[in-house]
Amino acid sequence: MIAAAILDRLRAIVGAGGWSTDAAELAPYLVEGRGLYQGRTPLLLKPATTAEVAALVAICAETGTPIVPQGGNTGLVGGGVPFESGNEVLLSLSRMNKVRGVDPLNNAITVEAGCTLAAVQGAAGQADRLFPLRIASEGSCQIGGNLSTNAGGNAVLRYGMMRELVLGLEVVLPDGRVIDGLRALRKDNTGYDLKQWFIGAEGTLGIITAATLKLFSRPRDRQTAFVAVPDVAAAVSLLGVAQAVSGGQVEAFELVARTGLEFVLRYTPGASDPLAVKHDWYALIEIAGGDAPDALRPVMERLVEAALVDGLALDGVIAGSAAQAQALWRLRESMSDAQKPEGGSIKHDISVPRSSMATFITRATAEVLARMPDARPVVFGHIGDGNVHFNISQPLGGDKAVFLGRWHEISELVHGVAHELHGSISAEHGIGRLKRDELPLYKSAVELDLMRGLKQMLDPGNIMNPGKLL
Ligand SMILES: Cc1cc2nc3c(=O)[nH]c(=O)nc-3n(C[C@H](O)[C@H](O)[C@H](O)COP(=O)(O)OP(=O)(O)OC[C@H]3O[C@@H](n4cnc5c(N)ncnc54)[C@H](O)[C@@H]3O)c2cc1C
Repeated sequence: MIAAAILDRLRAIVGAGGWSTDAAELAPYLVEGRGLYQGRTPLLLKPATTAEVAALVAICAETGTPIVPQGGNTGLVGGGVPFESGNEVLLSLSRMNKVRGVDPLNNAITVEAGCTLAAVQGAAGQADRLFPLRIASEGSCQIGGNLSTNAGGNAVLRYGMMRELVLGLEVVLPDGRVIDGLRALRKDNTGYDLKQWFIGAEGTLGIITAATLKLFSRPRDRQTAFVAVPDVAAAVSLLGVAQAVSGGQVEAFELVARTGLEFVLRYTPGASDPLAVKHDWYALIEIAGGDAPDALRPVMERLVEAALVDGLALDGVIAGSAAQAQALWRLRESMSDAQKPEGGSIKHDISVPRSSMATFITRATAEVLARMPDARPVVFGHIGDGNVHFNISQPLGGDKAVFLGRWHEISELVHGVAHELHGSISAEHGIGRLKRDELPLYKSAVELDLMRGLKQMLDPGNIMNPGKLL
């Protein structure tokens, strides 16, 4: 229970329009996207400036009031939603959505944390530049959320995760002080790289209010192909061929299994099977670059031909237009939604070294099916980054609640295989609330000790998104 006097002080900082207690307005902020968590809060704060955020946090620090920062609320581990107790204030960055500046000569853009990813991509495009982070939630997720989760997505293979796309950060610390680190420098060897502490910290070490991000030349051409492959090992080998033939211009390399494609074809209006014959596994390949539209078409043709000759591909189609490319991407991006009508789904966001990907999928599938023979693995993901969404759909006709009740048991199997192969239980979605209690099983005692030490140093009162991640 937060005292009314504290809530009054917080409201006074942001003024009218900067807060809400209206149940209808609060509702979407309080529910996690998959419906796993339903939180409560006595006050939604919507600051408009960094100074306001700093003043709010200073009051929270003084009074020991817990704060949950929230961006677009598209995170998939419950990190941005308050607990059910109702004794945390929720701080949305949505009103801090200005592009502070674009510097095409320096290939840099400075934006506030509440800018959506799509808005940043758009601002970069207007300056004839590329901001390369691409995820299916880009219309809603915000840069502050992308930074706090170290988001990945479809172009990591070429440009890296969010961590690698940052030049500088502005952060409000848990005591209300502000780090003004918006330096647009590629080289700055002046000691510890403090900005990295806050990237992937899931709002537990401070509130990111703005960022200076890297921009890149805008590729003039993109070519997309959908290729049937004999198995996962072939898909991994095919990536090597694709990189060699394209001179390193592969931007995305996604794995799609037939089961997931069947779901997409069943439930996504307008979706159609790109190839005449059914296959168990597919790769969606995108190359980008060149100085003119269609400049890379011959490269993609050579790539697919080489794959067919080497036996790494069984069939394939190259998109003939932007609309066809979009249709192929839609098959991949509808994969998450298409699992919903099939009932419960136990989800995993695994990474392993690419060289272990085929072993991981074979072993994890065998272990899950040995325990639950009618379960239906739906395997897809950013295989080019060694990242696979290893989801398990419930048996046909089974009881959803009973199936989901076995989440922990099944995850233990899957995460166990990933761990043995020196992989991670969270490639890109983070830990949040969903995987918090599992983290100690897979992270070394030394690493956990350092993480807790950092948290204690920056946030001794434990007011910044408490109970998430650690
Ligand atoms: C359809 C769909 C597809 C997705 N695909 C991908 C994908 O390919 N790759 C991927 O990485 N993710 C993916 N995601 C997950 C999600 O979109 C990302 O994790 C995204 O980065 C979250 O951003 P957000 O603004 O929605 O953050 P939120 O969900 O609001 O918050 C996420 C975490 O960050 C913290 N936080 C938010 N803003 C701040 C801030 N300014 N300062 C400090 N802490 C903050 C929150 O407290 C929370 O812990 C997908 C989600 C959906 C729904």
